[in-house]
Amino acid sequence: MMGPAHSLSGAAAWLAVGAVAAGMDHAMPWPTLVVGALICAGAALAPDLDHQAATISRAFGPISRLLCKVIEHLSHAVYKATRKAGDPRRAGGHRTLTHTWFWAVLIGGGFSAAAVYGGRWVVLGILFVHMVLAVEGLLWRQARMSSDILVWLLGATSAWVLADVLDDPGNGKDWLFTDPGQHYLWIGLPIVLGSIVHCLGDALTVSGCPMLWPLPIGRRRWYPMGPPRFMRFRAGSWVELKVLTPVFFLAGGGCALGALGVIG
Ligand SMILES: [Zn+2]
Repeated sequence: MMGPAHSLSGAAAWLAVGAVAAGMDHAMPWPTLVVGALICAGAALAPDLDHQAATISRAFGPISRLLCKVIEHLSHAVYKATRKAGDPRRAGGHRTLTHTWFWAVLIGGGFSAAAVYGGRWVVLGILFVHMVLAVEGLLWRQARMSSDILVWLLGATSAWVLADVLDDPGNGKDWLFTDPGQHYLWIGLPIVLGSIVHCLGDALTVSGCPMLWPLPIGRRRWYPMGPPRFMRFRAGSWVELKVLTPVFFLAGGGCALGALGVIG
């Protein structure tokens, strides 16, 4: 899928988590719901860090372009080192390492630990990166037409404001994990979820997604998971734009109302 569909499905997925959490007596304060949805929307672009033409490689100018190059080489190296006889040779690392459950858990856990131990500036940094990505994903066309600096300013101000809102007692920094040493521990959850939702979205497209690596399936370790062929579509096709995008939008809206206790 393309950036906007990935981000929108990420936001909808977090709103769905919000609705489920409300049903299980762990209702999110509204800032957790909103910030989590934006983080998840941003994190849903991140697996394409292995692809230099992806939205995310342009998001932070030369820094993200360099990071993209490094991650593509790393992914390719891991692919070559771990492939089994049934996995084809390939020229690059796109849709390998960063498109697995393993990577999702690794970076989600990493960001949670950083937020808990790193304090306010690390939380601000995590929010900034994901707010910029959320803008790139959700406001794709607008972000392309405006300058990078404007998008970064928007990311920085929203990160600053949202961190202040979350910080107020009862406003969400201690959602789900309530002990004093666990503030912001939840911040890795929308990051894991965003990565997984990205993989599920890619699995629906023609080439599939090797989500289960490193678990071997038959003679392959990088088996491209996905539904039966006839249910798949091309990235950027009418199914994605005219069917899935409105579905994500409506589902997300419905879940948001459930999460806030307006319905259900
Ligand atoms: Zn992808």
